[in-house]
Amino acid sequence: MALNIELMKQKLASSQNKNAGKSNDTKWRPSEGDQTIRILPTKDGDPFKEFHFHYNVGKNPGILCPKKNYGEHCPICDFASNLWRDGVENNDDQTKNAAKKLFARKRYYSPILVRGQETSGVKIWAYGKTAYQTLLGYVLDPDYGDITDPEAGTDIVLNYDVPGTPGSFPKTTLKPRRRPSVLCDDAVADCATLLESVPDFSTLFDEKTTQELEVILSDYLAGSTSASDDDSAGVEKYNSGGDAVLEAMQRLQGK
Ligand SMILES: [Zn+2]
Repeated sequence: MALNIELMKQKLASSQNKNAGKSNDTKWRPSEGDQTIRILPTKDGDPFKEFHFHYNVGKNPGILCPKKNYGEHCPICDFASNLWRDGVENNDDQTKNAAKKLFARKRYYSPILVRGQETSGVKIWAYGKTAYQTLLGYVLDPDYGDITDPEAGTDIVLNYDVPGTPGSFPKTTLKPRRRPSVLCDDAVADCATLLESVPDFSTLFDEKTTQELEVILSDYLAGSTSASDDDSAGVEKYNSGGDAVLEAMQRLQGK
């Protein structure tokens, strides 16, 4: 039986509509292979933002750390430090590893325009430390300079390589275009409007209160005795620690 092309079109359209309605529509993920992006300048002069997150806490996709980001109290940091100390005192590598997984990690964010998809507006791209250092390297290299400059900046070709082997992480390779270019011409979008639409980064993430974090943590600790069903992409599962780690975790809970 032949494929129902009309149905496929409808399915695609409805899946796109669903995504368009989501509040995190501005967040962008690269597709496998090459794509060209342009990083946009921000009003504060720093388009390479750093945020700290806790991963591996149950099913949560990544929890903004109040301590590392804002200097406030963070129950997850406290718990992870206690667990680490416990691992050190007992010379237990598994406990230390479990603690390490809970420590806050940095993630980097920039506003971008995806070439060929300019009409869908400013997107926020999240990336890791290697890409961050590469980008800063270009900015500080006089051959490139301010790659975000709307008139004389540089597009970047991003290659996203997703390895087929389980346990290995996708690799992002960045390569600036040889020639500088304008951010947008009139055919693409109104540049001033576009720059004005760069979102305030502080609104991108859900900031949790200490109480909320305590609940998340205790839910996680209560559930960690059963098999973890955390399947968030790229995040290592916590289920290999063994009984000693669970005991340590439960003993330290609420300390
Ligand atoms: Zn924290």
